[in-house]
Amino acid sequence: MKSATVWSFVFAVALAVHADGLTRSIALYVPPGMADSLLFGDTVSMHHSLAVAGVPWQQCGNLDSACRSAVVVCPAKWTDQGLTQAQLDSLQAYVGGGGVLVGFWVRNAEAMPLFGVQSGAYSSRRYRIEWDTAAHDAALQWIDDPHEQIIRLGDSSKTEIFGTLGYAPGVSATALARFDDGSAAVVAHATGAGCTYALGFTARNIIAVNQIHWGYGASIAYSNDFEPTSDVFMLFFRGIYQKHIRHAVWKHTTPGGKAAALMVTHDVDSRSSVDTMAAFAQMEASRGVRAHYFVTTHHYRDPPRIGALYDDRAIAECRSAIALGHSIGSHSVGHFPDFGTSHFPVGAPGNTRENYRPLCPVDSTSGGTVYGELEVSRAILEEDLGTRVRSFRSGHMAWPAALPEVMQKTGYLFNSSRSACDVLTNFPFFMQKGTTILGKRLRVLEIPMTISDVLKEETFDSTTYVQAVQVWGDVLRRNADNGAPTVLLIHPNRMVKVAAEQLLLDATNTDIETLGFDEFGAFWNDRSVCVFSDKLAGDSTLTIRLHSAINPATRLCFACDGVPMGGTVKVRDASGAILETQQAQWRNMTLISLGHRLPIRNAGRPRQQRMEIQIRGGRMWLSGLPAHKTPVDIRLYNLQGVLVYHAAAIDPTIPQILDTRHLPAEVFVATIRLDNQYMRMTVNSHR
Ligand SMILES: [Zn+2]
Repeated sequence: MKSATVWSFVFAVALAVHADGLTRSIALYVPPGMADSLLFGDTVSMHHSLAVAGVPWQQCGNLDSACRSAVVVCPAKWTDQGLTQAQLDSLQAYVGGGGVLVGFWVRNAEAMPLFGVQSGAYSSRRYRIEWDTAAHDAALQWIDDPHEQIIRLGDSSKTEIFGTLGYAPGVSATALARFDDGSAAVVAHATGAGCTYALGFTARNIIAVNQIHWGYGASIAYSNDFEPTSDVFMLFFRGIYQKHIRHAVWKHTTPGGKAAALMVTHDVDSRSSVDTMAAFAQMEASRGVRAHYFVTTHHYRDPPRIGALYDDRAIAECRSAIALGHSIGSHSVGHFPDFGTSHFPVGAPGNTRENYRPLCPVDSTSGGTVYGELEVSRAILEEDLGTRVRSFRSGHMAWPAALPEVMQKTGYLFNSSRSACDVLTNFPFFMQKGTTILGKRLRVLEIPMTISDVLKEETFDSTTYVQAVQVWGDVLRRNADNGAPTVLLIHPNRMVKVAAEQLLLDATNTDIETLGFDEFGAFWNDRSVCVFSDKLAGDSTLTIRLHSAINPATRLCFACDGVPMGGTVKVRDASGAILETQQAQWRNMTLISLGHRLPIRNAGRPRQQRMEIQIRGGRMWLSGLPAHKTPVDIRLYNLQGVLVYHAAAIDPTIPQILDTRHLPAEVFVATIRLDNQYMRMTVNSHR
């Protein structure tokens, strides 16, 4: 009886308050009195989640303002001390009138009925969440991969991990996800004209804690595995928005109307990498791929561990790579094995090529500092190569506690020293100062490494590479299905890896775009600061309004849910002018992209891109040889480096079909001499 009275009152208020409709946005409601240090981790986790989701959102400290948005998310725990009765009444009115409310840790006896929850039981021994995708709830539309449907929260051999609240849903509510003990982890409750979602965990434990790699043991591989644990929650928040907003619009996570981005990165940290990086750079340029070379600038001898690998030859190779359109980042000065340990000093600024020369005879460095490694490597590369260095990857992916802060102070923008499998996310995130979730967010963006040539149990060679590339392609495809980027790491030290990279690029769909690492970082930064709102007129006429200026080279892209390709979507800039857009289709969405990609800086691509060698049925065809050239010399090497074929003095002025019956069906590296120039390419021999 009492509740019936409350509900009729709520409904009347709701009609009055929401008569003129709710704005198409999410309000993150953080009451001023609750913005304490513990809530900080939850608030920044929601900032990040909503930023990745790309939906329009703003933080509100005032409940009345928050309740003007179509969705309200309250990151604070709904414990008995949480909200006042007046606040609860407002929220009940809001939901009754059509609002969508997302609450974490719903334990407040008065709030439980609103969330359709009968009880919530605490435990620190729940290790898994399984989403009920069979229910086909639209909020779960992104959770469509087996690895996404069951999420590990921690290692079940641990006596306990972080605490969770397992709900018993009421009869009118639905469990969208359950913990491994069968209790509900996410409860959806349609009530009045609106809907609520009760989550049985805190935002910090599924986002921020994973980013700093606190390690409840949820990660199961180091790299080369699809690891969407944190991503699933960010996509779930977008799914809620899509479910409740007709023709929802969000900032897509990839530029230029493509599904997802692939970034090819190389760590040049050995003499053999310097020797063979040109083969990678040329192959990539011939395919229009901008790769990123993280270079170790060890320019003096420090026997026996590492020689002076950064010498005139290395400088020349890096310059050639830049001329081919590739970019350069720092891979530290010394690649020191103890860089990530607490006894590696932070140091101070003011290090130079001349005064900074740490030594590391075995595994303990003397004279090295975090400042020195970052400052000097960057200065050396910028001075020698005349390029801007904005990105860093540490040797051994080591992570000293001071790394984020020193990176910011020494002028870096992008980092790739974490493995996606470790931090349980494939999306970039702004690093925090120090190693606790209370650390301030910095401007330096971590773009985690996803797939690499470091295999778990095998060496990367001619017998293992095909299988490794299949795994890479699988991870890339599953990430792309979420619009998540994939960062490939290859040490460019053996020719078999050129073949591997080619195989991956060959197998990559056209809806995936290869981007330079810095290029993607710049896109993500521009996307982060872009503020927009949108308006739906009639059934399908959308107008997206940008509230800040954007760089056309960023090729910012919006996704519109359910708007047919060719449907009316206008994008206006801050002054109201209509911008030129291109449309593409992806999943059930239309992608609306702005701007144009800049051409590769050096338009003069290497000549061999026109040349082609095909080996099929025991014959080799050459095409695209420049007719005016002097005789050509071709050698084929197998992936063990053995010369298997040599044709000298071929006349390039007549079409050539050469006998290759003795060659097995495998991959070869061809070296072609044309005048006094050598070019390399990989060739597949087919039966
Ligand atoms: Zn390295």
